[in-house]
Amino acid sequence: MAQAQKTDAHNVASDIKRLVKDKAFVGGQWACADNGATFDVFNPATGDKIGAVPDMGAAETEAAIAAAHDAFATWGKTAPKERANILYKWYELIVDHADALAAIMTMEQGKPLPEAKGEVLGGAESVRWFAEEARRIYGDFIPTNNQNTRIVVEKQPVGVVGAITPWNFPSAMITRKVPPALAAGCTVVLKPAEDTPFSALALAVLGEEAGIPKGVFNIVTGSFDNAPKIGGALTSDSRVRKISFTGSTAVGKILMKQSVDTVKKVSMELGGNAPVIVFDSADIDVAIKGVMAMKCRNAGQTCINANRIYVQDGIYDEFATRLSKEFAGIKVGYGDEAGTIIGPLINQKGIDKVVDLVTDALGKGAKALQGGAKLDLGDYFYAPTVLTGMNNDMRITNEEIFGPVAALYRFKTEDEVVRAANDTPFGLAAYFFSGDAAQQWRVAETLEAGMVGVNEVMISQEIAPFGGVKESGIGREGSKYGIEEFCEIKCILFGNL
Ligand code: ADP
Repeated sequence: MAQAQKTDAHNVASDIKRLVKDKAFVGGQWACADNGATFDVFNPATGDKIGAVPDMGAAETEAAIAAAHDAFATWGKTAPKERANILYKWYELIVDHADALAAIMTMEQGKPLPEAKGEVLGGAESVRWFAEEARRIYGDFIPTNNQNTRIVVEKQPVGVVGAITPWNFPSAMITRKVPPALAAGCTVVLKPAEDTPFSALALAVLGEEAGIPKGVFNIVTGSFDNAPKIGGALTSDSRVRKISFTGSTAVGKILMKQSVDTVKKVSMELGGNAPVIVFDSADIDVAIKGVMAMKCRNAGQTCINANRIYVQDGIYDEFATRLSKEFAGIKVGYGDEAGTIIGPLINQKGIDKVVDLVTDALGKGAKALQGGAKLDLGDYFYAPTVLTGMNNDMRITNEEIFGPVAALYRFKTEDEVVRAANDTPFGLAAYFFSGDAAQQWRVAETLEAGMVGVNEVMISQEIAPFGGVKESGIGREGSKYGIEEFCEIKCILFGNL
């Protein structure tokens, strides 16, 4: 209640004005590109220009690395309690400014305002979690083979972290990486996505107010064309000891290759191709609600989204009809319009991909029970779509849709569907709906994915490990495991005692 009252007391318009920064943040200074260049950022709903931020490259990234490296000498040695207090203050400030942060996010990313606020508050929980975890980075004491030796294991911060984040969760992808890094004693150079730099910069304003010291958290902004230069500078610099990336598998592979020469630790949260299986025994209402939630959330632009929806023969037709009815009632519109459930897709590339994938499926025999085309609300709006009659020749089987399209495949047996579900190079999330307890364990343990939702699709929370297997990535974010990604294990052996 106290929190809610505080938020209400804020003047959102003046908060937005204060939080929208048109400069990058390097060594505690609001900084321009060396040559003064900027790039424009647009509202995906209206196509209007929101503003411009510095178009930085390798030189500015090196300056940020130098600042982070200098700051690490002190920050890495602060008491965990001190780091925890600063992170906790950051958490409080994010909660207090949730309305303004949500408005900024909706403006640059398009998602509905309540959803944006949900992301901000969920991200704040991640900051709080890692504020708490900062004081629980325990080591070990190992029983030795002889009396005059002792072995102690200590966890130390990795050092300077290079973090690169995507546009689909402009705030939450940052609050998953930066707080655990800072909690562990690392310093960070962050490159946010070119589509959504303002949410990142707003977090830095609040981080500065929370007392994060100069150079501990740096943000380098850059355009699509300059992203490889920034990534190249981060990965080639031996002072950067860790790369934490969320984005496409293609870019993740580039960054991993580039990190080889300096043997950096990497965490990669990459693409997915999540299967959803609805067995005949499922509670069909729960399954429909789950698929709806996934396809509405962020207009289906999430890496853990339902890409291939396998429905068992006995309930396939009923499921398809009922899902189509639900999809017909979804309000698509501007994110700041009351009642909007699905906003625009992020950009031209995003909408082109959805159009191409649906055209491909329809051309190969799929049927659109609902939707199946762009909407006339702006350039990037796509109708909530249900496709039936999907088969393995269609591109959707192998490619992430990243749009509000539910693609339904019919199946007969558990063996057949588990084989199909696992027949992909990806392994981020998988979901299934089943009323059979033995099947729940059997299938959950057989699906090749880092995360499995059983009769539930909301699998992403700060307390649970998030990450994939196979080409969906390496490492975990969130939970007690998330902080380990930013720690090195040091073994100290005392001999001749
Ligand atoms: P998406 O297709 O979802 O935009 P990307 O993997 O292209 O995913 O982008 C995720 C993040 O990676 C963004 O911040 C983007 O600017 C950045 N990025 C893209 N290409 C490179 C690259 N070659 N090196 C470093 N960062 C990159």
